[in-house]
Amino acid sequence: MLKIGLTGGIGSGKTMISNIFLKLGVPIFNSDFEAKKCIHENNSLKNKLKNLYGDEIYMNGEIQSKKIAKIIFSNSKKLKELNSLIHPYVNISYKNWLKNQSSKYIIKESAILFESNTNKKLDFIICVSANDSLRVSRVIKRDNISSEKVRLIMNNQLEQKQKIALSDFHINNDDELLIPQVLKLHNHFLEISNIKS
Ligand code: ATP
Repeated sequence: MLKIGLTGGIGSGKTMISNIFLKLGVPIFNSDFEAKKCIHENNSLKNKLKNLYGDEIYMNGEIQSKKIAKIIFSNSKKLKELNSLIHPYVNISYKNWLKNQSSKYIIKESAILFESNTNKKLDFIICVSANDSLRVSRVIKRDNISSEKVRLIMNNQLEQKQKIALSDFHINNDDELLIPQVLKLHNHFLEISNIKS
């Protein structure tokens, strides 16, 4: 089975594109969603986070995301530390999920595919991009947060042009229609998987 990575910076349109692939019947593993799930549900990870940030990081069992965001987005070392703490748990969910898949190819969506070295375990990488101001305005509209906060998150991610250069395929989510770009890639992956099988 082909394993495809889908990456791109905050607000670039990864989930939007995943949803189109999903409609085409392609199974999607959303790493960011799974990471949030692990943070909420996995007791071993919860204990590690409490050791790192103090017990007050969970209030009534709920993670205090704003407190964590304040710590990590002003300190890239702490952000890396958090990502490497969560990564093994997401990896276990991914491996379990993968065992249950039987389609021609799957997609693993992650904002930090290269930063976490996950790219090495995938056959091809797609990078989705959109210009910075468009991404900022889309995220402000989606999450109701300030442009400063979005820029802070952006600044902690690998630069978009670097991500594009490291990827095998590129989806332009500035002004090009998404469905034709996704269909082209979908047909390409089906062709490759037919040749391989
Ligand atoms: P994050 O890394 O923050 O999870 P993402 O890369 O998954 O972001 P999306 O959530 O897919 O990005 O897109 C960000 C916002 O922009 C969403 O509200 C989405 O509906 C909107 N959006 C994405 N692409 C387009 C587009 N081509 N036209 C209009 N709105 C779009």
